[in-house]
Amino acid sequence: SLPPSNLASLVLAHPPAWAERTALRQLESSLTYAGLRQCVLACAAHLSAAGVRPGSRVVLLIENSFDYVIALFAILALGATAIPLNPDNSAAAVSAVLADCAGLGCILRERTRAKVDPASTLPCLLVLENAFEDNRRRWYSSAAASPEETQPDALALLLYTSGTTGRPKGVMLTHANLLANTASIVEYMQMTAADSTVTVLPFFHSFGNSILLTHLATGACVYIENRFTYPAKVVEVLQQVRPTGFSGVPATFYILLHRTNFLQHDWGFLRYINQAGGGMRVETIQRLRQVMPSTSIVIMYGQTEASARLSYLAPELLETRLGSIGQAIPGVELRVVGAGGQETAPGEVGELTARGANIMAGYWNDPAGTAEVLRNGWLHTGDMARRDEDGFLYIVSRKSDFIKSSSYRISPGEIEDVIAEMGGIEDVAAIGVPDTLFGETIAVCVVCPAERFSAEAIRAHCQSRLPLYKIPRYILHVPEIPRTASGKKKYYLLREQYQGLEASSS
Ligand code: ATP
Repeated sequence: SLPPSNLASLVLAHPPAWAERTALRQLESSLTYAGLRQCVLACAAHLSAAGVRPGSRVVLLIENSFDYVIALFAILALGATAIPLNPDNSAAAVSAVLADCAGLGCILRERTRAKVDPASTLPCLLVLENAFEDNRRRWYSSAAASPEETQPDALALLLYTSGTTGRPKGVMLTHANLLANTASIVEYMQMTAADSTVTVLPFFHSFGNSILLTHLATGACVYIENRFTYPAKVVEVLQQVRPTGFSGVPATFYILLHRTNFLQHDWGFLRYINQAGGGMRVETIQRLRQVMPSTSIVIMYGQTEASARLSYLAPELLETRLGSIGQAIPGVELRVVGAGGQETAPGEVGELTARGANIMAGYWNDPAGTAEVLRNGWLHTGDMARRDEDGFLYIVSRKSDFIKSSSYRISPGEIEDVIAEMGGIEDVAAIGVPDTLFGETIAVCVVCPAERFSAEAIRAHCQSRLPLYKIPRYILHVPEIPRTASGKKKYYLLREQYQGLEASSS
């Protein structure tokens, strides 16, 4: 039997009373906790026969589905490490990861095999049928594996960051890390077996992964919905399924509010909605508050390096602490520190650091990168933040996105907010570009009709609202601001693209 220190115990050692409860739902299919356990053990037996051993690293290339969940827990049950990647990755990208992590091979689906690897150079440990029912039949008629002993500090997941600040980093998360974070999320969200969710976030990122784990840890039900490309469909599914909770990144809520008939529905069945994965505009929070008056809106903050979650704002404080990411979740300590490592005074901006059982073991194959962020037991998040008098935290910007002009450190958000006030600006990003005199100077990329918002008009507006050192030198009309899949601005790409502005404008 599996020790409770293995993450797979969530599904393999669930209380007998949950056996007939629905763990997973998707379209017309469902899988009970007992069914999930049976499938996981049979899948583990197959993987074991294919050579998977404790410590093996296995790439999982499956979209959110029952098959993903089964394969994930089968890998974990054998004491091996799962590396979930976006199944839309090219064969070359997957091969690069496999080589980097000395992975044993991958698990994919018939239809993705054809897409990613016509030459079949990827070592496949398991190729799943496209239809879950075919896989279910196979697992229900196969022998079960006996799970392996696992140490709490064994690697459970190698989870790649979303690449907002550059190349995605492989975050090493142990069984203990993930179990600790899951337990504290369950605690502050007060989750029970009566909960259910419709999830649109990918399981191969930390936010989606935490939704999966917290529900399975409590005997709750996860309805998997992969069609966020059709947001109207998601509204329909939510109305049919009537889950108790729903989670999204800022773009999820923005799209639902602005591109669907979300406002015409009653959302009284939702106990809560969760937002993380980036700062959400205050207007969006307020709009949601109006649309769903009886639903708890929980603003949360975290990063892959922390398994998922670091802070949350108690929903009853939403209005009084608007814009705050709240306070540390149970089991986590958060501090804002200055350049010398000392804690900053209230109101003063510094780097947010975190300590707790959920903090990663390090970056894969990158001891220097690990040493940079893990210092004396504290994770340096790379996010700049301030605390108010009562200890509530506010994210200011990513450290690497600050503009360093002369002796000033300027947050891009402050300039962007001022420009957005003009109304009718579709998107905007402020960056620092090299400047001989000041080190960096400010360039602003705007997406808006140039005939309506000329560079002069934008500069004049900034002059009326900002001190001299925050007035952008360059105002560039661009077709779009590059963003990650979860909607975060990729400032580093803009910095690369416009690093030569000084030379080209002189
Ligand atoms: P990379 O590390 O490769 O640049 P990434 O930072 O997007 O990618 P994630 O771990 O997915 O990787 O995202 C975590 C980051 O998202 C945090 O460090 C923070 O900058 C931002 N973030 C998350 N939640 C919030 C929030 N509620 N408010 C503001 N920012 C947030």
